[in-house]
Amino acid sequence: QTLSVLEFATQIGQSVAVILKHFFAQGLMLNQNAILSEEQMAELALELGFDFRKEESLSKENFFDALDLTVEDKPEDLVMRNPIVTIMGHVDHGKTTLLDSIKNTNVVAGEAGGITQAIGAYRIKTEDGRRITFIDTPGHEAFSEMRARGANVTDIVILIVAADDGVMPQTEEAIDHAKLANVPIVVFVNKCDKPGADPERVKSELMKYGLLAEEYGGDIPFVLGSAKAKTGLKELQDTLLFIAEMQDYKANPNKLASGVVLEAHLDKAKGPVASILVKDGTLEIKDMIVAGTTYGNIKLIENEHAKKVLKAGPSKPVVIYGLNEVPSAGDKFIVINDEKTARSIAEAQAEKKLNAERQKNNSFSLASIKKHIDDGELKAINLIIKADTQGSVEAIKGSLAKIEINGVKINIIRASVGGITLSDVTLASTVTEGIVLIYGFNVRPDAVVRKKAEEEKIEIRFYNIIYKLIEELEASAQGMLDPEF
Ligand code: GDP
Repeated sequence: QTLSVLEFATQIGQSVAVILKHFFAQGLMLNQNAILSEEQMAELALELGFDFRKEESLSKENFFDALDLTVEDKPEDLVMRNPIVTIMGHVDHGKTTLLDSIKNTNVVAGEAGGITQAIGAYRIKTEDGRRITFIDTPGHEAFSEMRARGANVTDIVILIVAADDGVMPQTEEAIDHAKLANVPIVVFVNKCDKPGADPERVKSELMKYGLLAEEYGGDIPFVLGSAKAKTGLKELQDTLLFIAEMQDYKANPNKLASGVVLEAHLDKAKGPVASILVKDGTLEIKDMIVAGTTYGNIKLIENEHAKKVLKAGPSKPVVIYGLNEVPSAGDKFIVINDEKTARSIAEAQAEKKLNAERQKNNSFSLASIKKHIDDGELKAINLIIKADTQGSVEAIKGSLAKIEINGVKINIIRASVGGITLSDVTLASTVTEGIVLIYGFNVRPDAVVRKKAEEEKIEIRFYNIIYKLIEELEASAQGMLDPEF
């Protein structure tokens, strides 16, 4: 796979001139549309001090996927960026209240009006002047939707659990999502002001999910407080900042911007409007960006105070105007200061999306596992297990742990008691690698869930004898499963 000078320059955040100069010195007169060979790209990477991993071939189709992999910034270009935080938890446990309380107690100095427009995220300033970016879209749907598109928008997850209610189904889901995203978790035990509050119960309940508080020998920070009475908020912020310090989040502001679309809609007067989060580089007015399958020149940038800004650096959420179409939440974006290239990448992305949708229609099924193993395509089998009793859940997990399939990892991404729900299907659809199956042991989904699974092409299988389940998985791995089964 090859890229033009311009595309390559964009990927490594350098100007076209730097690259042309390099070849000019060798007596080669190129222009920005000249196609570079892999050797030339590797040679440039070497000269410019980038770690160009050749095996990750670049193309217009995998443009966004390859972005994170192809370029490593020089250490001296990196600066601290503030952490990006998402709040997740069961409905009514206080996500909205917590976001509001944090927003209202940390109005950024000089912004008397506070946060005046909801743009999917906002930044707060802590007492010591440091900043935290909060994603303002509570709810797992948005989070998992973004993850399903490969966009990891968050650095840290706050898991909120009401002290008078304890761990609930969506608490479990939130834990699964945070674990899959592989980000640090901070537990905020909310509603501690209520008479029936029992924070200790929350701590012991969460042990079951591997979230151990420090006093139990674990390393998960627990902050007790009340979103409504505004207690524990300072400690929560300090904890987030402490994690940020430990994790050392960095970005390079001196290159063209890239990031993620948080929300987007069509405004009758202003055209496509997109809230975006800059993850790296600096976005500037007049930049030409590609966002998913759309592109355009940025005419106007606004911050969360509805103020015009000329630039936005790493971890900053802003609203942009000027795209030619409405992108989707979770789309990645990058600045490509050349309209022709931007358009061709957007077109390639649109085609890729179309193909992916077609592919979905003949995606992996249990009966075809063997073929995919033989082709070396299958690296992981992801399972969601739902059963009628905790005993069955444990027994199934135990048996699965003993199964060995050459070169294939078995990931149990959720194993819990209860019927098969929409959230199981949603979780399954966020899996991006390998195949995913939902196993129901003495439990079944309702019609709505069944329909959603069909739409998402998620296979659900039912059992009432454990060895049957194991046998079938083993048989399918050996290619012995009758497709008619
Ligand atoms: P969400 O569904 O997770 O966004 O929950 P909300 O923020 O909407 O809160 C649900 C309800 O719990 C609302 O009536 C809040 O006023 C109430 N609530 C939230 N936090 C607290 C708290 O710390 N203490 C008390 N007593 N009530 C709270």
